[in-house]
Amino acid sequence: MDRFPRVIVDLAALSNNLETIRRQAPGCPVMAVVKANAYGHGLVAAARALQDADALAVARIGEALTLREAGVSNEIVLLEGVFSSQELDLAAEHRLTLVVHNEQQLRWLEDYPRANRFVCWLKLDTGMHRLGFTRPASEDAMARIQGAASVRQPPGLMTHLASSELLDDPITASQLSVFTELGRDWPGPVSSANSAAIFLRPETRVGWLRPGLALYGVSPIKGQTGNDLGLQPAMRLQTRLISVKNVKAGDSVGYNSAWTAKSSTRIGIAAIGYGDGYLRSFGNGTPVIVAGQRVALAGRVSMDMIALDLGAQSEAGVGDEVLLWGDGLAVEELAQWAGTIPYELLCNVSARVATEYAAPPPVLA
Ligand SMILES: *Cc1c(COP(=O)(O)O)cnc(C)c1O
Repeated sequence: MDRFPRVIVDLAALSNNLETIRRQAPGCPVMAVVKANAYGHGLVAAARALQDADALAVARIGEALTLREAGVSNEIVLLEGVFSSQELDLAAEHRLTLVVHNEQQLRWLEDYPRANRFVCWLKLDTGMHRLGFTRPASEDAMARIQGAASVRQPPGLMTHLASSELLDDPITASQLSVFTELGRDWPGPVSSANSAAIFLRPETRVGWLRPGLALYGVSPIKGQTGNDLGLQPAMRLQTRLISVKNVKAGDSVGYNSAWTAKSSTRIGIAAIGYGDGYLRSFGNGTPVIVAGQRVALAGRVSMDMIALDLGAQSEAGVGDEVLLWGDGLAVEELAQWAGTIPYELLCNVSARVATEYAAPPPVLA
C-alpha cells in the first residue's frame, strides 16, 4: 500500500554529511545530535546511519533509552543531563554520558556511591543564559566535578552559542573568549561547535563538534542551503493529488476565501495539512512541486489538505506526486515562507506521516 503523505529519508546522506563535517574540522571528534526524533528523520534509523560518529547526543533520557532498547551501543550524551536521582541510576545502568549544568546535578554526582561511574561534561553558561554554570559559579563547579569520585576524570567542558549563525552578532566572540579563558588549563576535552559554528567559526574547531541540523543536510545559515555548504538534504516530504478541479476568475478557494482566482485555472488538492506538520503559516504563493513543476499554494492550509494553483494549462491529475520539500525544493526556502527556521519544519512532521528509508531518486535535469 502506498502511504501518503510520507517522509522519505536518504540515510546515506546522513553518513555522507557526517564525513563532510569531519572534513571541515579534521581530527575533531563528533557528537551527532539526534534529539527530537533525529530532527524528524527517525531516531533509531538515523542513529544507525550515524554509527561512525564518536558519540550520539539527545536532549532527554527517554530518547537515549529508546536507542539502547533498539540495540544502539554507541556512547550517548544526555545534553541536558538527568532530572532526578532515579534518572541518574538509569544513566549508570545504560552507560549514558551526562551533561552537568546545575547545582542539583552536581550534588547527585557527589552523593553517588560508586566511583568512576559517569563520563561527564560540565556545561558553562558563557552568555546564552539558558543552561550551565555562569562565570561566577564556574570555578566552584569546575573544582567540584573534578573532585567527584563518581565522575570519570577528566570531565569535558562545554558551552552553547546563542548566535553562531549570525556573523555580525558580537555575542559569539564574547562567549568564545569567556569559554577559552575558563578552559585554558582544563585537562579534559572541550566543545562549543554546533552546525553553524562548524561552518562559520574556525576557532570552535578545537574540540568535540556537536552538529545537528548539518547532519541532515540542512543549513542553519540564512540565505544558504545545505547544498551550498556541500551537504546533502536527507528528507523529502511528499504526498499526492487527491482531486483536481477547474475554477474561474473570481472563485475563491479554501477557508476564509484567502485566495481568489485572477483568471480561470486548475486547482489541485493535495493530501497534506497542518495535521501532518505542514504549517498553517504557509501562505499564498508558497512553492510546491507537482510532477516536477513548481506551482503555488492557494489559500489556507487545512488540517489534512492544501490547494495548489496548477495553472490553466496543467495536465496534472489525481495521484500525481507532490513534493513539499526535499531535493529541488529546499526546506531552508520553505522556512522563509513560513517565517520560521528549517529546524522547526523538520521536527514538526507529525507521527501520522509515514517514514520510509530509501536511496534518493534520480536527479531531474
Ligand atoms: C541541539 C543542540 C546542538 C545541535 O545544534 P545544531 O544547530 O542543530 O547543529 C548542539 N548542542 C546542543 C547543546 C544542542 O542542544
